[in-house]
This record gives sequence, structure tokens and C-alpha cells, in this order.
Amino acid sequence: MTDDLRARVQSVLPGVRHDLEELVRIQSVSADPERLHEVERSAERTAALFAAEGVDVEIVRAYDGAPPAVIGEKRGPAGAPTVLLYAHHDVQPENDHADWDSAPWEPTERDGRLYGRGAADDKAGIMAHVGALRVFGDDLPVTVRLFIEGEEEVGSDTLVELLGKHQERLEADVIVIADSGNWDIGVPALTTSLRGLVRVDIEVRTLTHAVHSGMWGGLVPDALMTLSRVISTLHDDAGNVAIDGLHSGPAADVDYPEERLRAESGGAPGIEWIGTGSTVERLWTKPALSITGLDAPKVAGASNTLVPAAKARISLRIAPGDTTENALARLVEHLEAHVPWGATLTHEVVDTGEATQIDATGPAYDAARAAFSEAWDGTAPVDMGVGGSIPFIAEFLEAFPEASVLVTGVEDPDTRAHGANEGLHLAEFERVVLAEALLLRNLAG
Ligand SMILES: [Zn+2]
Repeated sequence: MTDDLRARVQSVLPGVRHDLEELVRIQSVSADPERLHEVERSAERTAALFAAEGVDVEIVRAYDGAPPAVIGEKRGPAGAPTVLLYAHHDVQPENDHADWDSAPWEPTERDGRLYGRGAADDKAGIMAHVGALRVFGDDLPVTVRLFIEGEEEVGSDTLVELLGKHQERLEADVIVIADSGNWDIGVPALTTSLRGLVRVDIEVRTLTHAVHSGMWGGLVPDALMTLSRVISTLHDDAGNVAIDGLHSGPAADVDYPEERLRAESGGAPGIEWIGTGSTVERLWTKPALSITGLDAPKVAGASNTLVPAAKARISLRIAPGDTTENALARLVEHLEAHVPWGATLTHEVVDTGEATQIDATGPAYDAARAAFSEAWDGTAPVDMGVGGSIPFIAEFLEAFPEASVLVTGVEDPDTRAHGANEGLHLAEFERVVLAEALLLRNLAG
């Protein structure tokens, strides 16, 4: 049966590749008001591709003029499980064409990769779903439902509304979210955790107004120096976040080779990694804190005055298992306890997003692990974490609490989603399509 499916994948692949290239040529940049008609076109093209596979499709939107999502259903045998397939048909802006080695809207193959904006994120996600349906033709072993949104790259503003409005047509036993990636070329992954985020602006004040630094320096602390001292208490000497009461957890036992880290991280030559614990614990399951902005006088034009007030933005990534409520309270406690010399410290919350920990157990996960191992010739999938957040995953978990959520995807470490020279690894893509077909077969039991 697997040999059959492998052969079927190989026979549908050229057509899948052709359709992917057509989708990439549509400039569906949801952030660009000038190209919203292209987002409409990509919705129509996506709907047509699924309709051709026998899916009963409809383009829906939360209100007139809202971004178009494609929903649909293709029924399998009576009593078979229902699987909801998710992807998005909008893409990030291509930005400066000069940064691309080939035109961003003209899919181009080089060294086994297909380059173009959306060639991976996430038009290949759409085509993995189309490919799996094409493999089965009229013998689909499960009932498939679809949700292909058109506003993921601009924050999925109407997602919750759409999920609510069409709940009955989207309900499923298993949800496959094809918008993440694999661990490496040749090593599949299921994304099972995502960190959350707490962003806070803090302001430190030491003077009611600026005064001469020669006349008063040595007695009155300036705000910028005081703020720097507060910031310096947020990490210990090893670079771990030093705020008491934040949650940390264990991560999968996978190795992140030093050479790959150097290449992917952008760390300057000679820079040391901060924190303790395994590399992936530090990236996925421990908190991380960065200063992402600072308001202070510019160096050019700095005068001999004591700065009365200074401001910084703190970006705190929180581990799966923590809550934004806890993390925010612990952060504020820490700041108030560590501000020196009687300075005033005020804070303002910019935004927060909860961390996600998916329960990666049960029959759907067994079916997925078996399918992935088979598609990757015996290499089991890694339970991967993501250091950033994909807020819409939490929204699916909330809207469909009974469903098993599988986060899969087509990306690899060199995909460059959102960047110039975004590219899809074509040999891995073939495995992705096969894995999805095997998954549907396994879910049918
Ligand atoms: Zn995406």
C-alpha cells in the first residue's frame, strides 16, 4: 500500500509543481492595499484547485471587503474520521527585488530548490493538501474539510470570527496546520510548542528636569545610567533570565550543530551564546528577554546635562507552560525591587500573547509519527518547539478543544520564509506530500 502511495505521489508531483508555480505567480500580498485584487485571485485559484479534486468549496469572508478564505468539504466513507486541512494563500511582501537572485514572482529552480515569494510559506502548504487529495482521487479514506485563509501574514484578524461562523462546516477530529517546518533536510518534525510573549515599556525617572552634568553629576543619578542598571539585573552573568518565578521546561533531546547555529543565527564571529541548558531548551522552553528599543538622547547632539528620564521596551518570551499573567507580574516585581537610588519606575504593557503547548499524544499523533517515519525512510519526527509565536494556532486549539491539532509544514532551515530568496526544497516537498497522504491513510485506521 505504501509503495502504491509512493508511486501515486511521484505521478501527481509534476502537476502539483505546475500548480504551485501558478500560485506563486499571483502576488497575494495581504499587507499591500494595492494588491488586494491579487489576494482575491489567489483565493479563486486555490478554490479552483480544490474544486478540481472534488472538494465542495466556497469563498467566505467575515464581512464585505474582508480577506477571502476558502472553506470546503470532500466526504470520505461513512464513519471515517474528519480531517480539517489548514494553510494560507496570502504571502509576505517581497520587498527589495535587488535582494533576490531571481524574480520573486517568477518561480525559478536552482540546485533542487524552487525560489519565489510563497514558494514555501505557504503556497507549498496548500499544494501539499491538494497533492494528498490528488493521490487518493475518488478513494479518499477520510472526510476532508478545508480552511485556507487569506490574512495570516497580517495577523488573522477575522480568523476567530470565521471559525465561529462556520464552526459546523469546519469541525473535525484532527486538524492539520501546514504552516511550520521540519527540523532539517532529511529529518521531519511536528511542531508541538511555541513560546508566548510579554512586551512592556518601562520608564525610569530621576530628575524633574534636565540639569548641568558638571554642576550636579556625582550627586544626582541620571536616568539613562539608572535604567541601564535596572536592565543589567534582568540576566545573570551566564545570560539566563534572572527573574524569579518564570517557568522553564524540558525540550526534545535533539542536537543543534554549532556550525548550523552559526550559519542560521546571524551571531557575529566570536559572539558567545548566552544562557545554560541545551541549545533547544534555550530557544524553545526557557524564557528569553531582549531590549528591543530605547528612548534616550542621540549621541550626536548630546549635551552636558543629566538625562531626567529614559525609556526601554522589554520583550520577554515566555516558556510553554507559563502564562502571560504570571510572567508580567514576576517581571514587574523584579523591576520594582531592582530600581536603584529611589528612582521612579513606571511601566506600560504593549501587548501579550500566550504560549502554546500541544498535547502531542494519542491516536492522531501515533498516526502522524508513523506516517512521517515512513515518508522519511525510518527517520522519526522531532517534537519541535518554535521560539516565536504563531497566535492563530492557539485560536484553533480554543475553537476546537476536542480535536487533535497537528502542526506540520514544508519549511527547512534554509527556506528563508519572509526574506529574499525564499525557496522550497523540492525533494523534501515530495516527502511532505507523501507524509500527508500516509497520514490520511493512517487516520482512517
Ligand atoms: Zn505561513
